[in-house]
Amino acid sequence: MDAVQKWANTLKIRELMKVLERRGFNPVFAETVDEARKVVMDMIPEGSTIAVGGSVTLNETGILDEIRKPEYKFIDRYNTSSFEEMLDKYREGYYADFLVSSTNAITMGGQLVNIDCTGNRTSQIVFGPKKVIIVAGVNKIVETVEDGIKRAKSIAPMNARRITHKTPCATDDCMTCCDCDVQPRVCNVTSIVDGCHYFPKRITVVLIPENLGY
Ligand code: SF4
Repeated sequence: MDAVQKWANTLKIRELMKVLERRGFNPVFAETVDEARKVVMDMIPEGSTIAVGGSVTLNETGILDEIRKPEYKFIDRYNTSSFEEMLDKYREGYYADFLVSSTNAITMGGQLVNIDCTGNRTSQIVFGPKKVIIVAGVNKIVETVEDGIKRAKSIAPMNARRITHKTPCATDDCMTCCDCDVQPRVCNVTSIVDGCHYFPKRITVVLIPENLGY
């Protein structure tokens, strides 16, 4: 990434971090993807149970590969033999020591905005796992909650296609939302985390001045 762009991104992130801190989150700046991976893995003691939210960012940063290492108890939602078993893994995630995920959007007002198909990721960010670590590139930052919802909806077709859900937006090559009513709809649950005051620093937000994920 261009050095000037990275500098501008860093300033934006520093500004957001002040807001997140005020709202009870634990914001952390990571200069690079490698640093982000180290920050995340340093926070998780060996032997911890870890759930993850479906995320391109976790793949791009190599964090998912780290979580798969035998020193952690990964609740592996990707390695199941049936839909029911996958749902059981999602349920297990509510009791995890850590949820590691990205976010669809994060506002300059300090709100996390997410849209989900099943609701496991959206709800576990809200409550369940003892600690949550959100990893986000600068491209996830928006101004308002409304912008965050718009952003989440704009990337939903790509997410639907990525997880092979046959929604109209993922199969018609139109890449737009038609507010579908089909069973595999990926936009069933929206969550907005507006603050972290009741469980201070439960949610760490690792911010990287690069574009990551959708
Ligand atoms: S509501 Fe349906 S059509 Fe719209 S983005 Fe979500 S899955 Fe695609």
